[in-house]
Amino acid sequence: MDFDTVVHQPLAILGGPKAVTVTPPDDLFHWPIVTEEDEWAVIEVLRAGSMSGTDITKQFESEYAAWQGTEFALAYCNGTAALQGAMFGVGLGRGDELIAPSLTYWASALQTFSLGASVVFADILPDTICIDPCDIEHRITRHTKAIMVVHYCGYPCDMDPIMDIAHRHNLRVIEDVSHAHGTRYKGCQVGKIGDVSAMSMMSGKSLAAGEAGMLCTNDRLIYERAIAFGHYERHGDSLTIPELVALRGLPLGGVKHRIVQTASAMGRVQLRYYDERMAEIQAALNRFWDLLEGTPGIRAHRPPKGSGSTMGGWYNPVGRYLPEELGGLPIGRFIEAVNAEGGRTARGVNAPLHLHPVFNEADIYNDGMPTRNVFSDRDLRQPRGSLPVSEAVGDRAFGVPWFKHDEPEYIEPYAAAFRKVALQADKLR
Ligand SMILES: *Cc1c(COP(=O)(O)O)cnc(C)c1O
Repeated sequence: MDFDTVVHQPLAILGGPKAVTVTPPDDLFHWPIVTEEDEWAVIEVLRAGSMSGTDITKQFESEYAAWQGTEFALAYCNGTAALQGAMFGVGLGRGDELIAPSLTYWASALQTFSLGASVVFADILPDTICIDPCDIEHRITRHTKAIMVVHYCGYPCDMDPIMDIAHRHNLRVIEDVSHAHGTRYKGCQVGKIGDVSAMSMMSGKSLAAGEAGMLCTNDRLIYERAIAFGHYERHGDSLTIPELVALRGLPLGGVKHRIVQTASAMGRVQLRYYDERMAEIQAALNRFWDLLEGTPGIRAHRPPKGSGSTMGGWYNPVGRYLPEELGGLPIGRFIEAVNAEGGRTARGVNAPLHLHPVFNEADIYNDGMPTRNVFSDRDLRQPRGSLPVSEAVGDRAFGVPWFKHDEPEYIEPYAAAFRKVALQADKLR
């Protein structure tokens, strides 16, 4: 049955036929794609007994740096550690402030506390779900040291105005690329636009190596500070800056950030195939969203065509929900109806960090006050109502199927499920 016929049939939640009647092949959504090449790479590390070595890791790093287009790449046990290394790398310390979006995973911000620094959250833009460049500058104080940008769900942040603000105020920019490996901003791969980038490669991410992270930079000081902080085993080989060389042998952070080499081995194989797999995901998700162009109440979360910007591996793809175009239909009801069609959706985004008690009440290190404020001369907490777009976006975004293969016969029925519910929203109110 063709697309236009399907979307006008009675809604499944009201007793009509489902839009999705096909059974998708197992590999349509499965991720990561693991082949014998990954398996053999891991087995070789196991047989060599070199899980804690760094030889394979150094190969992974040089290949990653070449792919990312930065001079240095430093591998980590996970993305959280890589982001902490980047924060220390740019010099965040006692009393310093990081400006970050509230709408992100906690590891874009929470490690500031362990450095004696704190975080000031900025709001996001409703269409990109990324940090709003116009909500940054008025938050800068003499304590601000860096801006964290998160290319959310693969969407590239608007880096030109952000880099301009950073240059004018002498701030460092850290890119959290955990959702956006290979994403392009106006033709340039994200992760080399700011002073340093860090990214997760845990199994769910679009470039996946089990549990792993990477830090990328062109700045030798940032690179060596990150090594000094958490990679004591490499101090001898890698440190050249005299103040850091003088401290070599023990990690300044009291942490151990080394990656296990089975992950490096898998990461090397995954990287080799990533561009090709990413291109297929982009073709599939663009096909899905092209089918939904012009549907009331829902919008693609993707940059305009022809802008040179892309969605990378389209991690955790979401759509934007505009209930005002659907007579105010609550998102919960929309999601229920799409799932009744067989459509695979759920709420799509993180809860905003600025409302969580860890950022507001927790006295983590026994200072007798919220850790957020310990080294600050003012109350940094941001109450409900202070970041309206971040607070509302949970009701204005929904997940869509993360297709790994561009197979029209399966993509069309899923797109039909969303369009069918949106076109017939009046029957659900
Ligand atoms: C996954 C993620 C991280 C943390 O990475 P881990 O490898 O899980 O430690 C950091 N930032 C964002 C935005 C993430 O989604």
